[in-house]
Amino acid sequence: MKDRIFLSFPHLGGHEMQYINEAFSGSWVVPLGPHVDKFEQRLEEYTGASHVVALSAGTAALHLALVMLGVTAGDEVLCQSFTFSASANPVKYQGANPVFVDSEPTTWNMSPESLEEAINDRKKVTGRYPKAIVVVHLYGMPAKMDEILEIARRYAIPVLEDAAEALGSEYHGKKCGTLGNYGALSFNGNKIITTSGGGALICPDAEAARHVKFLATQAREPMPYYFHKELGYNYRLSNISAGIGCGQMEFITDRVARRRAIHNLYTEGFKNVEGITVHQNPSADVKSNFWLTTILFDENLHISPEDVRQALEAENIESRWLWRPMNMQPIYADAPFYGSDCAERIFNSGLCLPSGSILTDDEIHRVIDCVTQYISKRQ
Ligand SMILES: *Cc1c(COP(=O)(O)O)cnc(C)c1O
Repeated sequence: MKDRIFLSFPHLGGHEMQYINEAFSGSWVVPLGPHVDKFEQRLEEYTGASHVVALSAGTAALHLALVMLGVTAGDEVLCQSFTFSASANPVKYQGANPVFVDSEPTTWNMSPESLEEAINDRKKVTGRYPKAIVVVHLYGMPAKMDEILEIARRYAIPVLEDAAEALGSEYHGKKCGTLGNYGALSFNGNKIITTSGGGALICPDAEAARHVKFLATQAREPMPYYFHKELGYNYRLSNISAGIGCGQMEFITDRVARRRAIHNLYTEGFKNVEGITVHQNPSADVKSNFWLTTILFDENLHISPEDVRQALEAENIESRWLWRPMNMQPIYADAPFYGSDCAERIFNSGLCLPSGSILTDDEIHRVIDCVTQYISKRQ
């Protein structure tokens, strides 16, 4: 059996242990500490954001952003349907209700037309506008932010970017996560960088960042005894995890460059294979980090993603279905949905290919050969 090729395996830089050892020798085996400050600083330098708060998970970042935006019980929040459930679940944590919006075919992200339709219809149905918009840069591909932000401004609805998959992606010269009111990042094991588990929230100003830190550390008021006026959370990143993050940030530019190079290899490799389209940037000033390279099979070939997945698995190659849209999930069966079948069709005809920055060119070619052989046998 050939060595296993994983979808997106953690890629260590080499200095992570050094940072961890530093934390141990300085008795900083605690939440907070100097590595947390340093990690936040490195994220700020890299994204160009001025106020980044390191948290225990991307999901925690999304949750706190909703708290900061004043989302409470009974509110509605507009969410992209084509995403991982962690984008929408925090809406439920607040006792609020997600309203799902379909994607458009160029970026696979939130359709501005369906978004505006949803805003107007919710106002008609409930008498109120939704409280926030959660837009996702799926697989690292920036959403149509100019159009979405213009609509958001017109209706005065704040925008939370779920940039969990989009660290390093750029939209018109700006990093994803810095375009809306808040931006959430994830450092889970399979993302662009890992802290073994962690996230961060990009905040609009110093006061918001200060309040996010306060909420993330149990909302303890500055009193000699424990005194609480607000509901607190234990959502801060540990100093050990932040140390791993500092080690990871040393190589962030290389990691993003490698994901993009892998995407180029796939694009070249499938150039002459009929029936396969590699998802591409829609224009030169929109630059996905290509966290995962995704492909679509021509719908009239009637190829099931599951068959290709199994063909790859037989060669010890891990691939994955695209995210199953939230309007197709039993847990959200009753949530309102606006749009048509754009995301559903993409889901039914696509696949995520191994894209970890640790993969070699030879390994990518193994994947290309296996997919190509499967397709040619079908034709
Ligand atoms: C990974 C991910 C999250 C959640 O991040 P965690 O750090 O795993 O909590 C949220 N949204 C999207 C789109 C993701 O891919």
